[in-house]
Amino acid sequence: MLSVSNLSTSFRVEGQWKSVVRNISFDIKPKETLAVVGESGSGKSVTALSIMRLTPPGSSKIEGSIKLNGKELLTLPDADMRHIRGNEIAMIFQEPMTSLNPVLTIGFQIAEALILHRGLSRSEAEAETIRLLEKVRIPAAKSRFHEYPHRFSGGMRQRVMIAMALACKPKLLIADEPTTALDVTIQAQILELIKTLQDEEGMSVLFITHDMGVVAEIADRTVVMYNGDEIETGNTEDIFARPQKPYTKALLSAVP
Ligand code: ADP
Ligand code: MG
Repeated sequence: MLSVSNLSTSFRVEGQWKSVVRNISFDIKPKETLAVVGESGSGKSVTALSIMRLTPPGSSKIEGSIKLNGKELLTLPDADMRHIRGNEIAMIFQEPMTSLNPVLTIGFQIAEALILHRGLSRSEAEAETIRLLEKVRIPAAKSRFHEYPHRFSGGMRQRVMIAMALACKPKLLIADEPTTALDVTIQAQILELIKTLQDEEGMSVLFITHDMGVVAEIADRTVVMYNGDEIETGNTEDIFARPQKPYTKALLSAVP
């Protein structure tokens, strides 16, 4: 469903083009989870932002090909790309607060997304918002509709962000280190939630992490990145059983 080939991304820094992602290729099949793993600075987030075409327009260059169900995203008009971001691909981030408006209630923000992207009426959107908050297992969802983001814990905020992501009925969810900022027990709950929702919704997931333990939990296939390069790609089981590259072995040695 998503086919990335020879993706390269550069940024203009002080007048020079700096290459930060080089010749990355991978496919994600329907309902599959693909992990992109690598240490900080290896180009994982830039890869995700390139797929969404969210790198700064004037000072970045994305080359190669990114096809979503056969449609080339890199040459799509901006308006069509906005439609893709609202209706086909959703993204969640490490720090959910950066995507939530602190002065608007949780319920209002999700309802707005539903009105904008799915054309629901206000009352339909409010009912659907409560359904989504229940779907991401927020206790007493109905009574939390009118609360502001700061009243939610980190794990609950990430659940809200997942509800927001589901509002657009995505075919692909890109999750950029969604559990990194959370306590270990909460991390496990969020991973479990993403797996359950993936089954229920039939989505594909591109899961970015620096943690091989998380990869083992969630990914069918895995891309290992280092310093902007794709080091190794394969079935997660194969990568764990027979890592081909020293860098992958080093990442695996950190897993308890
Ligand atoms: P990761 O997500 O794997 O930690 P990133 O994809 O965020 O790494 O970053 C990869 C490299 O690209 C880093 O060296 C980072 O400094 C650089 N980079 C990211 N965004 C920009 C930008 N907007 N301008 C210039 N360099 C950037
Ligand atoms: Mg990152």
